[in-house]
Amino acid sequence: MKGYAMLKIGESGWIEKENPVCGPADAIVKPLAVSICTSDVHTLWEGAIGERHNMILGHEGCGEIVEVGELVKDFKPGDRVLIPAITPDWNSLEAQAGYSMHSGGMLAGWKFSNFKDGVFSELIHVNDADGNLALMPADMSPVDACMLSDMVTTGFHGVELADVQFGDSVLVIGIGPVGLMSVAGANLRGASRIIAVGTRPKCVEAARGYGATDFVSYKDGPIADQVLAMTNGEGVDRVIVAGGGCDTFQDAVKALKAGGKIGNVNYLGDGEFVTIPRVEWGVGMGHKDIRGGLTPGGRLRMEKLATLISSGRLDVSPLASHVFHGWEHIEEALFMMRDKPADLIKPVVVID
Ligand code: NDP
Ligand code: ZN
Repeated sequence: MKGYAMLKIGESGWIEKENPVCGPADAIVKPLAVSICTSDVHTLWEGAIGERHNMILGHEGCGEIVEVGELVKDFKPGDRVLIPAITPDWNSLEAQAGYSMHSGGMLAGWKFSNFKDGVFSELIHVNDADGNLALMPADMSPVDACMLSDMVTTGFHGVELADVQFGDSVLVIGIGPVGLMSVAGANLRGASRIIAVGTRPKCVEAARGYGATDFVSYKDGPIADQVLAMTNGEGVDRVIVAGGGCDTFQDAVKALKAGGKIGNVNYLGDGEFVTIPRVEWGVGMGHKDIRGGLTPGGRLRMEKLATLISSGRLDVSPLASHVFHGWEHIEEALFMMRDKPADLIKPVVVID
């Protein structure tokens, strides 16, 4: 089979590989559509997970099953399925402890384009098919389905980590596709005010559609100063971090009320330490919770989130700003995700 791979840090291209082997509990899936993630950019160009040679990229997609192992009960060839970015080993101790995304070690529930070949491939191997795949609702488009793999679950996980409650004021730092889903999730959870941080016009427009009430540009000065000025110096109840760097993280602490909670889903890629501002963290006594997490994956998560789309409670269609048709566009889409043109939210490649 062919796949679009990371050849080494900074270099990518098409390669030929042996077809994946279907274990007894596994499935082999032919993709219907795949989407590019900012994490692919971090992996390929920034070496975020270290060096990898000839590893097929991608972890967002949906497809049609072509083969299942003899132990698979709930899926069969021909089924159209949602594929989560995170495909845990459900019998691991970490999964039993409630942290399936860390099954087998920290972040190790993330297998595609990390510990094994990813989804930019003619054939995708999915471990524990009954635990990780979900049937794609009949009325769902492959483009929308791709947004469930990672964007919806990650953006919503930021909301879960920040524990957004009815009436909360919420700051969402970063409104790329992940942050946009955090805005949508905070809105669904009943936030009263949602302050969104970002500049790309298309993202700002989408954030407004998803329920953002106020906007801040990180280019206009420190985020925390702007948020404090907008809130009579009080700050916000919750912060979700879905963009920026380690310094931005300090703004999250500064903009938060005592007793508030931060949910980070952003990749913190620089330096050795993340600094917590001492005074604004209440000199260690401010009850400002800081939580950060890799997104949950697996079947139940996909099934539940899919119902939000099917029921019309969540419209993910604004995320797919650039839809390509055919594998020949995968490189263009990947480079686009790296370069982030002003009109980009998310590139998707449909495999017709
Ligand atoms: P994007 O790059 O599309 O969006 C980033 C957002 O952050 C944009 O709105 C951007 O603004 C904003 N931003 C950039 N610089 C700053 C700054 N200095 N201060 C504040 N905001 C800033 O990213 P994605 O939405 O695709 O992904 C967001 C993050 O989530 C990535 O780090 C990604 O790796 C991570 N991720 C984490 C996962 C998890 O499981 N936890 C899963 C998937 C992704 P502008 O409008 O100006 O571009
Ligand atoms: Zn992703």
